[in-house]
Amino acid sequence: ATPTALMVGTGRGAQLGILIKGPEVLETTRRADTVVLDKTGTVTTGRMTLLAVRTAEGEDEERVLRLAGALEHASEHPVARAVATAAAERVGELPRPEDFGNVPGLGVQGVVEGHAVLVGREKLLAAWSLRLPEPLAAAKAEAEAGGRTVIAVAWDGEVRALLEVADAVKPTSAEAVRRLRGLGLTPVLLTGDNTAVARAVAAEVGIDEVIAEVMPQDKVDVVRRLQSEGRSVAMVGDGVNDAAALAQADLGLAMGTGTDAAIEAGDLTLVRGDLRTAADAVRLSRRTLATIR
Ligand code: ADP
Ligand code: MG
Repeated sequence: ATPTALMVGTGRGAQLGILIKGPEVLETTRRADTVVLDKTGTVTTGRMTLLAVRTAEGEDEERVLRLAGALEHASEHPVARAVATAAAERVGELPRPEDFGNVPGLGVQGVVEGHAVLVGREKLLAAWSLRLPEPLAAAKAEAEAGGRTVIAVAWDGEVRALLEVADAVKPTSAEAVRRLRGLGLTPVLLTGDNTAVARAVAAEVGIDEVIAEVMPQDKVDVVRRLQSEGRSVAMVGDGVNDAAALAQADLGLAMGTGTDAAIEAGDLTLVRGDLRTAADAVRLSRRTLATIR
């Protein structure tokens, strides 16, 4: 009866919006005791909007948006989309950048209208030996405490502005976390974003454990570390930068609304991108395997 039960379980999964790669996946699903949740696009919608521009003394907001938007137009990152969309709405056609470079987990850089421009995290500023001037540093801390992601715009060796972006927590995320906890799993929020922002999102959905400011290539090490502590790790993610971690996890759950890289790396796909179906998957596997015994 074993193969039959697994087949029934897989079929039931499809009805629930859970695509399972192979019958053995149900076995690992049952054992998970920790669920690592990517923030952007998994717990939150990933559709970010530009909420505020804070210029340094004497800088022009439109010019900031034109130069920053020109670079971000060439990037696929949710932060980049927010900036490019707002910039295009505000200034119309954006100039074409030269020497465009994407720095994963940090930002973008390039030459726009003859200026060497960078748009990204404070850490990227540091790589250019730049620092936030005091009024902007204070504004950044305040915005981050309120859950906004803050990136800097600099060109020709000077920080010109801060851009504040945010997306919303999905309406189903808090309930999903509650259900996962109810099944005995400990949720952990994992993100490349700033710690203050991550904590604000975690608090909103009921997660206590937060691992933030993790570079894209280091997410997989976080999963390894949790495993080395003896935890059986399920990881839910949607991004290119989640793929290695999804593959490393005992169980990888990809958001069906996410990137192909994540879907290929995962053991199962949550077709609708609804985090609650992660809990459904765990329940389903436990039931399926209980009928086998
Ligand atoms: P997450 O784990 O939340 O998906 P990433 O590792 O992709 O985040 O990015 C981490 C942070 O790096 C972002 O929150 C943002 O501050 C910054 N960043 C990444 N790409 C860009 C970009 N194209 N423009 C501006 N900032 C960026
Ligand atoms: Mg993501």
